[in-house]
Amino acid sequence: MSTASVFIAGQFRDAADSIAVIEAATEEQLGFGAAATESEIDDAVAAARAALPGWRSTPAGDRAGVLRLMAEALQKRAAGTLELCSRENGMPVRLSKGANGMFPAVLLRYYADLLDTTEQEEVRPAAIGHTIVRREPVGVVAAITPWNYPQALAMMKIAPALAAGCTMVLKAAPETALDALIFAEAAQEAGLPAGVLNVIAGGPQSGAYLVSHPGVDKVAFTGSTAAGRIIAETCGRLLRPVTLELGGKSAAIILDDADLDATVKGLRSASFVNNGQTCHLSSRILAPRARYAEVVDAVAALADGLVVGDPLQKSTDIGPLVSRRQQQRVLEYIDVGRTEAKLVAGGSVPADQPRGWFVSPTVFAEVDNSARIAQEEIFGPVLTVIPYASDQEAVDIANDSEFGLGGTVWSPDVDRATDIARRVHTGTIGVNEYQLDVNAPFGGVKASGLGRELGPEGLAAYQAIKSIYRVGPSA
Ligand code: NAD
Repeated sequence: MSTASVFIAGQFRDAADSIAVIEAATEEQLGFGAAATESEIDDAVAAARAALPGWRSTPAGDRAGVLRLMAEALQKRAAGTLELCSRENGMPVRLSKGANGMFPAVLLRYYADLLDTTEQEEVRPAAIGHTIVRREPVGVVAAITPWNYPQALAMMKIAPALAAGCTMVLKAAPETALDALIFAEAAQEAGLPAGVLNVIAGGPQSGAYLVSHPGVDKVAFTGSTAAGRIIAETCGRLLRPVTLELGGKSAAIILDDADLDATVKGLRSASFVNNGQTCHLSSRILAPRARYAEVVDAVAALADGLVVGDPLQKSTDIGPLVSRRQQQRVLEYIDVGRTEAKLVAGGSVPADQPRGWFVSPTVFAEVDNSARIAQEEIFGPVLTVIPYASDQEAVDIANDSEFGLGGTVWSPDVDRATDIARRVHTGTIGVNEYQLDVNAPFGGVKASGLGRELGPEGLAAYQAIKSIYRVGPSA
């Protein structure tokens, strides 16, 4: 058990205030994370500002070199990182291996490589002379992340921001404050100049102070739509660029020709990944009326067959939720569901899990899309199965949502499924699977967010475009 730390200006220091980090499966204390104070946040922003001129003028190739060293440093620590994250938030280790153990290093290498092929300046002919169109780093970034994929979601901001020449203050969620410091260790080991990446943790108060800090040039946020709206309002008032990756209530459209065995295999991940604590989860299952009973039975059997238990065991499909608060929230939604629909699987805390914040995989049938359990993000292992009569009605139901983040379409006829995917109004959608692609933009429309992460678009999010008009011929 250690005291809480923050990482500011290249140094670890004891945090002035702290919050206990609790293991999701055992309810035992894992350690203490920082509850960053205003003075610590002032110091972190000042360090990022002081480091900005040096880092932004470091040649792109040299920045890429440091990012690759940081990837190596993270990779060395991967086994410890993936286990720590699973203890913090209950993510099954099979998933944590990729999401927390491997993906951050992949992202650092991807953006390092992208620097080699992205020109900082482009010359365009103009009516008089020519224009140099230049990509400059946007400046000091405030990154605020949630606890559900702590390493991946933070690195989706760190890697492109640092590649672009920005400096950063990362504020991790209190539930996952401990693993965030692994970024700091890796930064130190890689020789990242002091102040380029500062790591703190804390709750909404620390986050709100950071978002409105006068030393911040851009905010990158992943979290709930409710917090996203507050942050967007602040950034609107300050005219501060902001990227928002928010909640979702995505649809899995099972077409009438779907192979149900293959579909259900895919839904294991698309609809239950990370114990349901995933923003792009296909949590509304849309089933053709003619096959409705068959789909309900198959999805209920899937839920009943999932192995619920210790997230550190490789055989576990569903671990605990991150906190008692989250468990209570999900159980309250299940109570709402009992009044709105028919419970066909789960619906309670599993009897064989006396400690930890578990909820059994739960499925509701006979759900109308207007029900609260079909419209609101539950963020737990709770699915709704909704009938539809035609392809057009399936698309209409999928689109009848405040959110627009993900989704899936299931059919052996890939072209037909792709055509349906084109008609669903979301930022991303999968055909017969749902797998984030490091090279393709990820993000939402409507209440699911603003802007994109990953791919070249993820780098552009940290660049300001400047046009330099010049009379005369170009060089
Ligand atoms: P949350 O919004 O409560 O917290 C997320 C982060 O924001 C935490 O670090 C928190 O301390 C901070 N925060 C909260 N209020 C703030 C405020 N007013 N100002 C500044 N910072 C603030 O969300 P959560 O419950 O921790 O995470 C779950 C939510 O995140 C879900 O809604 C989920 O869909 C969403 N999410 C979205 C994506 C995506 O990429 N779209 C990915 C993962 C999670």
